Amino acid sequence: MDVRRRPPMRSVRQSSTTSAGEPPVKHLKPSDALPLPLYLTNGIFFALFFSVAYFLLHRWREKIRTSTPLHVLTLSEIAAIVSMLASVIYLLGFFGVDFVQSLVTRPSGDVWDAEDEPHGAILEEDSRPGPCAAAIDCCPPPKVADVAPVTVFSSEEEEEMIRSVVAGSVPSYLLESKLGDCKRAAAIRREALQRTTGRSLAGLPLDGFDYEAILGQCCEMPVGYVQIPVGIAGPLLLDGREYWVPMATTEGCLVASTNRGCKAIFTCGGASSMVLRDRMTRAPVVRFPTASRAADLKLFVEDPINFDTLAVVFNRSSRFARLQGIHCAIAGKNLYMRFGCSTGDAMGMNMVSKGVQNVLDFLQTDFPDMDVIGISGNFCSDKKPAAVNWIEGRGKSVVCEAIIGDEVVRKVLKTSVAALVELNMLKNLTGSAVAGALGGFNAHASNIVSAVYIATGQDPAQNVESSHCITMMEAVNDGKDLHISVTMPSIEVGTVGGGTQLASQSACLNLLGVKGASKESPGSNSRLLATIVAGSVLAGELSLMSAIAAGQLVKSHLKYNRSSRDVSKIAS
Ligand code: ADP
Repeated sequence: MDVRRRPPMRSVRQSSTTSAGEPPVKHLKPSDALPLPLYLTNGIFFALFFSVAYFLLHRWREKIRTSTPLHVLTLSEIAAIVSMLASVIYLLGFFGVDFVQSLVTRPSGDVWDAEDEPHGAILEEDSRPGPCAAAIDCCPPPKVADVAPVTVFSSEEEEEMIRSVVAGSVPSYLLESKLGDCKRAAAIRREALQRTTGRSLAGLPLDGFDYEAILGQCCEMPVGYVQIPVGIAGPLLLDGREYWVPMATTEGCLVASTNRGCKAIFTCGGASSMVLRDRMTRAPVVRFPTASRAADLKLFVEDPINFDTLAVVFNRSSRFARLQGIHCAIAGKNLYMRFGCSTGDAMGMNMVSKGVQNVLDFLQTDFPDMDVIGISGNFCSDKKPAAVNWIEGRGKSVVCEAIIGDEVVRKVLKTSVAALVELNMLKNLTGSAVAGALGGFNAHASNIVSAVYIATGQDPAQNVESSHCITMMEAVNDGKDLHISVTMPSIEVGTVGGGTQLASQSACLNLLGVKGASKESPGSNSRLLATIVAGSVLAGELSLMSAIAAGQLVKSHLKYNRSSRDVSKIAS
């Protein structure tokens, strides 16, 4: 089944304004070059063709009757033949090319009509000198229509399903189970959405994605997927090994800058890292009739005598979940118990939640007056800035350091050790203190964390606490060299579960040598990934801080982060 749309022939020409209310864009067609209206020109050439054909046939019949050789031509006959050729060429050019084009485009149903794709404009743009002018792949992306044209689906059954979804008689979320085919379900949902909203999804691809892989795990009610380019920074020389770091981003400069940091680190012998703690957390909130009862439970769960029993109950959730400790906080009658556990190579939110549920069920027997308000009481704390993560850590706590020689600081980073140390003190430490920062004592850790997270299938929302980072810089070796470190207490990463198993993300994990579960030592892949994240942040910090110290930031962003293409042209 092909569910892609083919816009109606005249959709672009007919619209008098764009959806945004902008003035209409006039796309020139070959027929615009004719001196007369199209119907008149066509009429003249048709009339010419038939009258000349009639005249010639008449003349040839006369010649046959009078036994005159056919090749002996009078002036009027020559003129008639020339006129006939001219009209044939015109009519073939007008109708024949359209017919052939429709034959070529119709079978896939995916190709825009010649009139919808303003080739004239494309050719004009591509006529600039340079490699793009010649390369067909370099054509600007197809124009995305604002208004969704209605597709007629091939099978009546599918058409019926789309109409039912639009009418609301079939819930969109049931399509996968009803059809038993995730791709078809996505296609039908997408078409129903376009018809309901009247808006086109033309730029959002549907094909080329495994919709079965996300079912029940990664995304509900899919209608396509967003493409994000992946750049490579590296080699990052970390703990004696080289890594090529995939970064999914649309921010120009980011990969280039991180790459420069990697180069500086590499030239100086590499960075080294340590995982200080590996502990995912979940903190339910429970309520008691009195504050003293809440205190009773706090004392119970924090008593080392009870730890082994609680750990056995907790660890039943998974062979990889291992309870490490419970840290409690009280607010009146309410108790918040922050469970911390190792989770193998999984980021671990599911695992720790299951373990917590086991313990709550167990505690209910001895504390029947305990009212479980929520499995998560925000003392965890997941996807929100919170001091508890900054101080206690969540996920992997990592420190990473490097010494950058003064020559590399000068030649690669184009600044000086003294300038970097001073900027770090006034910006990352003092400036962030002035701003009341929470874990934000760095230049742009979240830039690198987000890009690596998206590329490797991590939960990008955990960028909030995963980007907590304090960057330290100090002059060492008699003030000649730079000691730089990043300390990141809450890097939440996994190499199994969630988005890590999807094809693209899995390929990026594979590139780093941390794909899937570690056979030898469960948890070592995710810990290694956390150190790579920290090492990449170190490179990013080094490079951006240098650019700021050297006053290059604005210049390089203007070069890499601003398109030279005329945005108004693209928008139209
Ligand atoms: P998360 O807790 O990060 O959401 P999931 O619970 O979705 O992750 O995925 C972890 C799953 O992977 C569990 O079912 C677990 O048993 C399995 N698994 C297999 N190998 C490992 C490993 N080395 N470390 C952690 N989990 C593993």
